[in-house]
This record gives sequence, structure tokens and C-alpha cells, in this order.
Amino acid sequence: MESLIESRARLVTYVLDDPLTLPRGILDDILSRVKLAMPYEICGYFAGVGRSIYRAFPIPNVAANPGDSFCMEPMAQLNALITVDKYDWHMIAVYHSHPPGKRCYPSLRDIEGQPDPSCMHVIFAPTANGKIINLGAFAVRKNNQIAIPINVVESPVY
Ligand SMILES: [Zn+2]
Repeated sequence: MESLIESRARLVTYVLDDPLTLPRGILDDILSRVKLAMPYEICGYFAGVGRSIYRAFPIPNVAANPGDSFCMEPMAQLNALITVDKYDWHMIAVYHSHPPGKRCYPSLRDIEGQPDPSCMHVIFAPTANGKIINLGAFAVRKNNQIAIPINVVESPVY
């Protein structure tokens, strides 16, 4: 079994915008979850303040076909929202993974399935052989997808 240390991520960024700040510990945790779940999709929230991610809330994927879609388990979703509210954070992004070999962009279904347009999409997209996981963050503005840079930091920025 591959260790966490061997997890690799490739950042996909195209335009200048305020970066998302993602602590490495959180990134490594989600990368390991993506790998364990492959070829199924995983999902959850990144919460924090502004664009600084403080915590990930992994949510079980209860989609009927988790091999090509995700659907957040409602009680876990509610508990995450309650915790985020308690700390005065907000949901910065919905993250989910794609099956190996699929594009690192939100699909139309991803965008339509997200009721809050201020919430970004973070996509984990393993290559076909699953060895590299592409990572991208996207905001949707006026029906355009804007790639948001991701700044991986060694420790959380509070
Ligand atoms: Zn998707």
C-alpha cells in the first residue's frame, strides 16, 4: 500500500486570483481518501475564513452510482454546517473527486448541483493510472469557470 508521503498532487491553475490557502496536512488527508475510494468519488467541504481553509469535513458519498457522481449524506452535511457556524467560519468550497482519467473541471452537473454560487469547487482528478492526482479550484462567475490558484502551506494560517 502506498504511504501518505508518496501521495503526489499536481496543481492546475491558469489565472491570477486570490489563492486558496490549503494546509498540507488537510491536503494529504484528502489525497489519501481519494486514493482509498478510487474508482469511487469522495466528497466534502473545505471550511474556513476568506480563502484560508482551516478544516476539511469529509462527507459520505451516498450517490446511487458513486462511480460517476456524488451526493452528500444529509446528516453529516448538517453536522458540518452546524460546526462551521459555531466557529463563525464559512463553507469555502465543496470538494469532490472524479473517477480516474476524468477531467479536472467541474461538470455541468457539479455546477447545477451546488446551490450556493459563492461556494467554490475543488476537484481531485486522478490520472487514468491513478498515480497522480490533479487538483484544481474553481469559482463560477457569470456562467464561466474561473480557475483559482491553490497555495499549499505547511501549517494552518489563522
Ligand atoms: Zn465532478
